[in-house]
Amino acid sequence: MADRDDVLIVGGGVVGLACGLALLEAGRQVRVLEAGTAGCGSSHGNCGTITPSHAAPLAAPGTIARVLRWMLTPDAPFRVSPRFDPALWRWMLGFAARCNRRDWLQAMQARVAILQDSRAALPVWLARHGIACEFESSGVDHVYRSRADFDAFADEADQLRALGIAVEQVDGAEYLRGEPALREGVAGAVRFPGDARLRPDRYVAGLARAFREAGGVIVEDCEVQAFEETGDGVRAQTARGVFTGRDLLLAAGAWSPTLDRSLGLRIPVQPGKGYSITYSRPALVPKRPLVLHERSVCVTVWDSGFRLGSTMEFSGYDRSLNPVRLAALERGAREYLHEPVGAVREEEWFGWRPVSVDDVPILGPVPGRRHLWLATGHGMLGVSMSVATGQLMTDLICGREPRLDPAPYAPARFA
Ligand SMILES: Cc1cc2nc3c(=O)[nH]c(=O)nc-3n(C[C@H](O)[C@H](O)[C@H](O)COP(=O)(O)OP(=O)(O)OC[C@H]3O[C@@H](n4cnc5c(N)ncnc54)[C@H](O)[C@@H]3O)c2cc1C
Repeated sequence: MADRDDVLIVGGGVVGLACGLALLEAGRQVRVLEAGTAGCGSSHGNCGTITPSHAAPLAAPGTIARVLRWMLTPDAPFRVSPRFDPALWRWMLGFAARCNRRDWLQAMQARVAILQDSRAALPVWLARHGIACEFESSGVDHVYRSRADFDAFADEADQLRALGIAVEQVDGAEYLRGEPALREGVAGAVRFPGDARLRPDRYVAGLARAFREAGGVIVEDCEVQAFEETGDGVRAQTARGVFTGRDLLLAAGAWSPTLDRSLGLRIPVQPGKGYSITYSRPALVPKRPLVLHERSVCVTVWDSGFRLGSTMEFSGYDRSLNPVRLAALERGAREYLHEPVGAVREEEWFGWRPVSVDDVPILGPVPGRRHLWLATGHGMLGVSMSVATGQLMTDLICGREPRLDPAPYAPARFA
């Protein structure tokens, strides 16, 4: 048995590592227990956009009708694989119940607070820890080929502006004059100048390096099988033996519900599978990251490469790389871009986003437990919310005045 730590963290993704690094900065001794290697989960091949602009949750008025239409299309951007899975159906019912304007606006407020805090803190955090990950305050553009969809965004744009997000709407012809990488047929674009991007695998590698240099320990190939409170602390049973600590933070992303028996709390999170393809950088690339609206494809460009990513598929913990959905990324990109792919296809990837039933992250103490904490449910925005998540969890675990109102994120909302 290893010596007792102040904090054991289950999961070495962007969330677990950001929490670990913030806790080390606050003087805690921290050990991360990771089933694979640090950053091997959803944090690896995602699109790397930092997007306060994505404050609107998935559960929105009209989402259910759209999902039902998409059920008939195998390469649609959002898909539920129908099967017998009580946890999925419970989650779907809870999600459907939230597809109304009141819950949409409430979730948007909770999301924008943590997104904005994280976005503001990110450049300082990267500089302080010497993390080079191709971060750029680039902004992000959403490109529309449908005039009706472009016009329909006006309501969301108003809500975002009211919450402090800068939104610029650009006419299609003007947009094309400034963005030669795009093909004709753009009806308009929405620019979010406050957004940014980074290379996520480099970011997570940088977090892991900074964490270790600051004295943290990452135990890899160390799947946590169960844990329990032991009066004055916690005890975790793992593939590498038993670890003990004063506190335990479950940050296992989409896998968090697989350990919820140890928490005594049902975690309403489903794996929302997404795909990406990474290429060498084409000659003609967009000036900033794009979301190709009608196809829901995200295009991210770095000096080191070019990535297409997207799709949200609820198919449980299915590990297959679906060729239909990978092909849909390229097909979508071809409609908008002169050079939709790079010469070398470097990686095809899938990841499971930890999607909570209200699309708001689940952060804070486990109700009725003194030493158990939860940080999961970041959905499509775990990279964007990483710094503020680490700092909020550190405030809570260390008993400091929290920098954000923790109430909207509290696990107690599901107790
Ligand atoms: C296609 C795609 C595009 C995306 N684009 C963006 C984007 O542009 N911007 C953005 O902000 N977010 C984006 N996301 C979402 C983002 O990737 C996730 O929200 C984020 O990575 C979640 O981080 P995490 O640390 O919670 O989970 P993960 O990175 O999945 O980490 C969880 C870790 O826990 C480990 N683990 C699991 N079970 C156990 C166990 N029993 N014991 C020990 N360890 C365990 C896993 O091995 C894993 O390393 C995207 C996701 C996808 C799929």
